Amino acid sequence: MSKYWSDAIQRLTPYVPGEQPKEIGITKLNTNENPYPPSPKAAAVINGFDTARLRLYSDPDCTRLKDALANHFDVARENVFVGNGSDEVLAHTFAAFFQHEHPLLLPEFTYSFYPVYCNLYNIAFKQIPLRDEFVLNLDDYAEPNGGIIFANPNAPTSRAIELGEIEALLKRNTESVVVVDEAYVDFGAASAVELTQRYDNLLVIQTLSKSRSLAGMRVGYAIGHADLIAGLERVKNSFNSYPLDMLAIESAVAAIEDVDYFRETTDKIMLTREWTAERLAELGFISLPSKTNFLFSRHRFLPAAELMGYLRSNKVLVRYFSKPGIDHYLRITIGTPEEMQLLISTLEKHPDIFKMDVS
Ligand code: PMP
Repeated sequence: MSKYWSDAIQRLTPYVPGEQPKEIGITKLNTNENPYPPSPKAAAVINGFDTARLRLYSDPDCTRLKDALANHFDVARENVFVGNGSDEVLAHTFAAFFQHEHPLLLPEFTYSFYPVYCNLYNIAFKQIPLRDEFVLNLDDYAEPNGGIIFANPNAPTSRAIELGEIEALLKRNTESVVVVDEAYVDFGAASAVELTQRYDNLLVIQTLSKSRSLAGMRVGYAIGHADLIAGLERVKNSFNSYPLDMLAIESAVAAIEDVDYFRETTDKIMLTREWTAERLAELGFISLPSKTNFLFSRHRFLPAAELMGYLRSNKVLVRYFSKPGIDHYLRITIGTPEEMQLLISTLEKHPDIFKMDVS
């Protein structure tokens, strides 16, 4: 707290990202990063980059990247917006579309950055409870609203909903913008990008941080009607002309174009996820059905906070949220098969893990 802070800044509750440990030898399963390196083609772009070019500013319009994304998703360039990570794309989305008289509707348990942006931009919001077992039911979003946002698959719950449910929402909710955050969609869920061609109030946001292994490069994007994209450009150009640097733009183009590598690595992660869920079940964990690169799992009787601390003391990091309602759960990122084997063998050594009644 400082006397120089404005009232608005004093009232903020900033988002707290998962730990990025400085020590070596940690198995990091806490921030949903991809365990595989970026596409070799993206690596070649970075390794071959002529640093003398950095003298100049990067392209403020990121045209090459927008064209690569437009080509990949079979949309036009004016349907694509890019930003410094999807967090920045989300921030601009909140500023552009959600400041209205009626509240923004969002799930009670979802990406915890959304309420942070609401506070930053002074947006009224209403959290809608999930159904049993954290099922997102869009029938519950039938009230006057200044916008609707949810993640599909949802985080941290890992569950996905069907495209038909999203389309049904779009048919009845025509007066406000609906945002689907698809950060994890490439691990088994269906993308709503195709619906953006038919519904001018749908914005789909994705990231290169998860399925393209480029979290450290900070590249996210949105796909939607040209008018929505133009709105985002107005916010972006009132904030930062050059949010993406040259390396980010050019490596992202290479990563998007390398579809084979993308398929190979996402397939491996999905296979490892199913293996991990089975091993965890043998140890007394119940995991929600996941369409993401993480599992949301609770143990039948061991408290999640205790398990998180036990794993931490054995150099395995997983994410735990102390929020009531989800505080029985661990969010476990899917790493390589070796990393997941290490997680399982560490849990097997927990002194109480086999004391459960498996009948
Ligand atoms: N949306 C969701 C649901 C996420 O979990 C994350 C990652 N924390 C993001 C968006 C932001 O990802 P990035 O800024 O790395 O693109």
